[in-house]
Amino acid sequence: MLEKIVIVGGGTAGWLTANHLAKSLNLLTQKNRQVILVESPDIPTVGVGEGTVPLMRETLQYFGISETDFLVKCDATFKQSIKFIDWVHNPGTHKNNFYHHLFDYPQLYKFNSLQSWTQGKFEGQLFADIVSSQGYLCENGLAPKAITQPEYQGFAEYAYHLDAGKFSALLADNATHKLGVEHISANVLSAKLSEDGSIDSIILDRDVQLKKNSEATTEISADLFIDCSGFKGILINQLKVDFISYQNTLLVDTALAMQVPYENENEPILSHTLATAKKAGWIWDIGLTTRRGVGHVYSSQHISHDDAEKALREYVGAQADKLDCRQISMKIGHREKFWEKNCVAIGLSQGFVEPLEATGLLAFDATARILAEILPNQSEGINSAAKLFNQRVLYIWQRVIDFIKLHYYLTQRDDSDFWRDNRRLESVPDSLLEKLEIWRYRLPSQHDFFSRYETFNLDN
Ligand code: FAD
Repeated sequence: MLEKIVIVGGGTAGWLTANHLAKSLNLLTQKNRQVILVESPDIPTVGVGEGTVPLMRETLQYFGISETDFLVKCDATFKQSIKFIDWVHNPGTHKNNFYHHLFDYPQLYKFNSLQSWTQGKFEGQLFADIVSSQGYLCENGLAPKAITQPEYQGFAEYAYHLDAGKFSALLADNATHKLGVEHISANVLSAKLSEDGSIDSIILDRDVQLKKNSEATTEISADLFIDCSGFKGILINQLKVDFISYQNTLLVDTALAMQVPYENENEPILSHTLATAKKAGWIWDIGLTTRRGVGHVYSSQHISHDDAEKALREYVGAQADKLDCRQISMKIGHREKFWEKNCVAIGLSQGFVEPLEATGLLAFDATARILAEILPNQSEGINSAAKLFNQRVLYIWQRVIDFIKLHYYLTQRDDSDFWRDNRRLESVPDSLLEKLEIWRYRLPSQHDFFSRYETFNLDN
């Protein structure tokens, strides 16, 4: 029997995975099953990841977390859209140089909206306003739901902005107190491999007491190990699984993050993310109930760190003088395999492209759920489950990369090397070029998005 699963890492990915596994394995009643999460008391989580997509609503409900509890404990706000500013034309050259990527498109499939739009029948109107009323909600500071509506229901589709640290803590509390996951605080030093190259056990830097063991130990064996150790990827690296870089496709590689307090308590909180394109990247701006999270994502090949910080401080304004910002290096790409032997990578250890469109939590939530749902009963089933998992997760990452690249490739910006380099044909994946070639001669159709593993669809 596949009885014991160890997760290494207690960031958002680790705790999302723990909740998914505990739910699917029904840990509270299946006493022979064990899920243990080992988290370093010394290595902080990445501490960013504040934007989500509507899948998160479904996930929280599935975990049995109350929406009210979540909103209060994670300083969360509603997110109905990402407003892309200055992504289409060079700044200052066009009126309304922005578009909304909404979550709700009720009119898209009615009245031939797409066709009429491309034929210029809605001259002067924003695309978002033709296909939905949600752009209006966003621009007027309105919520997607009324306070009298039941939890997780709204008039319009929505997701959330949240405090990443507080979100991990909420997920941890749910997994350990309500779903039966065991939480261990220790540093993993290494993995001990067996003769066939799979992981036999992990070695810790201290003695820990497990519920089912009578004595304290520095070594934990398991049937399956999940690497949620972030960019470090300590287990998946030890199994020598290659990392496929997409640095030549998606050029940004560094982020500067800043927490900005509200200047007064009546300052409005936006119910959408702002993504403002800059000379060598873009700036995110996310309003939580207690503060804003603002960050500059940029290509270090195209701007110096000092100039990137200057651009961020200029965006934030005078109050930035009192604030620190944190630099985060990003590894752009994904693993060659996501499940190797008895080790599965979920989270930043699995892959990451960049924060645009909040694809991180989306991919990790979705892949943790796939893992939980296809987990075999017995260790003998691991190889075939791994094969299926690797195919599905690869498909997800390839579509994420295509979609993110589309934002940079379809722009008409040419005011810096960064934008010109982003539009170079050789930087675009073939899979995206193939789609664009089709759409040169007809509108995108639902038939172009045929798999249930599409991360983005016709609406997007
Ligand atoms: P981490 O948060 O880094 O957690 C790693 C865990 O592993 C920690 O608990 C650490 O203590 C533990 N660990 C490490 N080494 C050891 C060891 N040796 N022993 C024991 N434990 C260990 N995603 C979105 O969906 N939306 C966004 O808006 C978004 N913005 C982002 C902005 C930036 C700049 C970056 C870099 C990422 C962003 N992401 C976003 C991605 C998001 O941050 C991640 O999806 C999410 O935080 C998951 O991270 P993680 O849990 O994999 O890693």
